[in-house]
Amino acid sequence: MGWGPRRRWGGGGAAGGASPQDHSLHHIFTTADGLLRTRGLGLVDVTPSEGETILVVEDEPSIADAIVARLRAEGFRALLAADGPTAVERAAAADPDLIILDLNLSGFDGLEVCRQVHSRRRVPVIMVTARTDETDVLVGLGLGADDYLTKPFSMKELMARVRAVLRRANESAAAAAPVRRGPLEVDPARRRVVFRGEAVHLTPTEFDLLRVLVRADGAVLSRGQLIDQVWGYDDASAARTVDSHIRSIRRKTADGVIRTVHGIGYSLGDEVDAGSGGAVAP
Ligand code: CA
Repeated sequence: MGWGPRRRWGGGGAAGGASPQDHSLHHIFTTADGLLRTRGLGLVDVTPSEGETILVVEDEPSIADAIVARLRAEGFRALLAADGPTAVERAAAADPDLIILDLNLSGFDGLEVCRQVHSRRRVPVIMVTARTDETDVLVGLGLGADDYLTKPFSMKELMARVRAVLRRANESAAAAAPVRRGPLEVDPARRRVVFRGEAVHLTPTEFDLLRVLVRADGAVLSRGQLIDQVWGYDDASAARTVDSHIRSIRRKTADGVIRTVHGIGYSLGDEVDAGSGGAVAP
């Protein structure tokens, strides 16, 4: 599909500007905060498949250094902050993909960092605590961290958590990204549908059905699969319900938006040219 991990800075990857093969053409250097720069191009993405930015917030230098070194060795951009206020500042400036956040910090603690960062944007957080009972309390309070790790931990374990949290975040970003199929645009974040330039007012169930079909990208889905993905359960009346919602979506858009595959189910129709789609440019 046309989306993936968000690219932080222009000029990265194959889309234009510097690709990994171009490096010999530019003078590359690393700034004090570990960001790679090339002269004349500003910040570039040198590891298109990974290279996500991770902010490490840790006030014990030996642990901080070990985490940062391992992250960089694994292809991530790692930034460091040693206290709460610096962490909030860096998170605002660098827009990281993930924060590894020590709970016990000077200035203010990890919970306050979490609260302030999340008031701007929902950045995934792995909270690191000194004791298991702290972790239990934090989990019980549901404080918005995506995962918790108790010291001491191995770098291998931390990296496994980092990859899992980033994968989940990327999956949910992809699921929320607007998608265009020919004259049809579906924006899951705003729950908005535009067809041939006009807003279409669907019920929540109609919206979910259309979104599932759009995501299937032309593949045929059985009524059972649609019921499963939209309602999450099956019952005797659901198959007829699918049919009536599909009729309603067609009425509000065009007959050709959804194709009936007799004896099997439904797919996107020729009207929306399923092959030509992709993520809508922001
Ligand atoms: Ca600490």
